[in-house]
Amino acid sequence: MVDEAKGLRCGFVALIGAPNAGKSTLLNALVRSKVSIVSPKVQTTRARVLGIGIHGDSQVVYIDTPGIFAPKRRLERAMVRAAWAGASDADLRVLLIDAARVAPRKDRGKDGREDEDVARILEGLREAGGKAILALNKIDRIKPQALLALAERYGATGLFDEIFMISALTGDGVADLRDHLAAQVPAGPWHYPEDQVADMPMRLLASEITREKLFLQLHEELPYALTVETEDWQERKDGSARIAQVIYVRRENQKAIVLGRGGARIKEIGAAARKDLETMLDRRIHLFLFVKVRENWVDDPARYREMGLDFES
Ligand code: GDP
Ligand code: MG
Repeated sequence: MVDEAKGLRCGFVALIGAPNAGKSTLLNALVRSKVSIVSPKVQTTRARVLGIGIHGDSQVVYIDTPGIFAPKRRLERAMVRAAWAGASDADLRVLLIDAARVAPRKDRGKDGREDEDVARILEGLREAGGKAILALNKIDRIKPQALLALAERYGATGLFDEIFMISALTGDGVADLRDHLAAQVPAGPWHYPEDQVADMPMRLLASEITREKLFLQLHEELPYALTVETEDWQERKDGSARIAQVIYVRRENQKAIVLGRGGARIKEIGAAARKDLETMLDRRIHLFLFVKVRENWVDDPARYREMGLDFES
């Protein structure tokens, strides 16, 4: 009530789109910074936080629903349905379509077939029920008449409350979309403290991501028995980064659990963390994970400071 009186709003916005539609580009334009955080607290396996935008009194948490497209095999359809369920949990859903890719034949130099990925996404949207916001992206690459035809075509599906025409790359139309999302998320307190979003250092962010993967993988096996520290971060000339992290556990047997049989578990954790880091930082990442035993880390004030926590409190 107090927060509503203060006019605060906060909500989850699922960004949906075929690969290459421009999701990462739009996300960076929307949050206006490459700083984004992940927290096991709000995390589900169905959706992951991509970034957080603060727009006036609104905090908008952008989430991704992995695996939403290309269910080429029948088996994959169940996974896609689960992904859609994740999208339905969001307060708002934004479908991003590469307008240049779905434009009429003469404008795209392909055959007249509807784009397959987009067709599947529309089908999924229809099955999932509820409405979405359509953002026709890459309008810098398409003629105005073709764009209007597309807006009409997708508008006629009845699946969309609003249609925005944007260029995530040039920023054209992005502010309108941002304002709309900020106004549409529900009234309520922010999920994240403001300074956490703005100040979270990259190293801590990277540690949080790996910690999240450990939690997801290990479930209840190692509650709070481990911590992750980013020990080294090297920028490479090719634009990628090499990140080395140490996972500290308290006992030798915990180390074995984290490593898994033949190192299988740590490999999986590393792969998942790297994937998220690449999405969030929008660049190639080489991630190296090491597991070490440090018996008393729970009592060590320095560790708490590194985690951004106050040991005294
Ligand atoms: P994602 O796979 O959906 O995350 O797509 P990306 O954000 O990685 O974008 C895929 C490609 O499309 C990149 O080369 C972007 O630079 C490009 N792109 C994204 N948005 C636009 C846009 O509005 N206009 C143009 N011309 N290119 C764009
Ligand atoms: Mg991307």
